[in-house]
Amino acid sequence: MTATTWHASHAWLPDGLAADVTFVTEAGRFIAVRAGGGHHRISATAPGSGADVVELPGVVLPGLANAHSHAFHRALRGRTHDGQGSFWTWRERMYALAARLDPDRYLALARATYAEMALAGVTAVGEFHYLHHGPGGRPYADPNAMGVALMVAAGEAGIRLTLLDTCYLAGGLTAQGHLPLDPVQQRFGDGDVGAWADRFALLTPGASVRAGAAIHSVRAVPAGDLAAVAAASSGVPLHVHLSEQPEENEVCAAFYGATPTTVLHREGVLGAATTVVHATHVHEADVALLGRTSTAACFCPTTERDLADGIGPARRLADAGVALCLGSDQHAVIDVLEEARALEMDERLGSGVRGRFSPAELVHAVTSAGHAAIGWPDAGALRVGARADLVAVRLDTPRTAGTSPGQVVAAATAADVDVVVVDGRTVVKGGRHVIGDVGALLARAVEALWVAP
Ligand SMILES: [Zn+2]
Repeated sequence: MTATTWHASHAWLPDGLAADVTFVTEAGRFIAVRAGGGHHRISATAPGSGADVVELPGVVLPGLANAHSHAFHRALRGRTHDGQGSFWTWRERMYALAARLDPDRYLALARATYAEMALAGVTAVGEFHYLHHGPGGRPYADPNAMGVALMVAAGEAGIRLTLLDTCYLAGGLTAQGHLPLDPVQQRFGDGDVGAWADRFALLTPGASVRAGAAIHSVRAVPAGDLAAVAAASSGVPLHVHLSEQPEENEVCAAFYGATPTTVLHREGVLGAATTVVHATHVHEADVALLGRTSTAACFCPTTERDLADGIGPARRLADAGVALCLGSDQHAVIDVLEEARALEMDERLGSGVRGRFSPAELVHAVTSAGHAAIGWPDAGALRVGARADLVAVRLDTPRTAGTSPGQVVAAATAADVDVVVVDGRTVVKGGRHVIGDVGALLARAVEALWVAP
């Protein structure tokens, strides 16, 4: 196995920004990381010490994790933002799109979407996957054909995937109880939680793919079934949408007499392997409960603003001990640097105070915390032994020129990402994906869906 040596003028190491950093990678891992030239010198006989050095531009960040994705929502970008409407009217458009997808079309769309993520510096994605079956809920010959399409798509786009296979049993929740699935939602459901668990058990992960589980929400999974999902997902990440909208809290209070967070806790869903997504409208007691159970939270600020969800209590959650990570969710924007920056910016808007999160906290959320939340604890940090992910962000573009390397997260966008290395393999070079023209791939995949019968 050949070692490769890389050099960056600045890089974000585990204890902060460092200058003049050399990395040696071999077999997809860092085998040496040296900062400052003089210290921790690589021995003259170390692999790669005599090889050519690959110079990386700008400041190098660890691999970025996109901890919450619904890949097919990418086809809604630029098609749902006119007029008024709400989360709920947006959802109707999303269902219309879902009805047009099959494994081949989904592979093409997801491959292009994940390639767009790679261009933005994403090295691993948590795919919250609920579009399982064919029209009317009829299973494909392989009952995981849609999940397999996502796995193949991520592999071809060169990023790691955690397939968060989602249990989705009910069409919604009212004060009187859960509703049956409507015709479009039939594709999301397995009938009962046992059938979901049986299909989940058939998933076969690979070197760059992990399986995790998800509960769509307390709206879509009755309380009596939550413990069974938690049991089936023991040892892997478990994600759940939580309190994205006030309406979820209201119907939950009316039916259960409790908050969604409390319902999840009673059924054993919360814990260190669990990530709640959004947590926009959690109550004060919920914040404490999430902290006490070491549950993580994934914020999706560009989605939450697009859908007029509101601003979640990010600082209060962090202060309670909740690890925060970030996701692009419905992909109105795929720019996880922007998601990280928005964590701080939304806090400023909500609190009237600046500096609620330091740049180091934002980098941590979008790198190691995100990777941990989707089951890759050995990624997202530039240290010996970790997966060899490198994200070089240019500091000489019109957006970033003049920026201090330590504040890159306050200025840079996905368009400033120049080189992306995933598990030692170069996926993006000079701002271009090795797969080809990602814009053209996206245009083909999205347009095919909207002209489809
Ligand atoms: Zn979501």
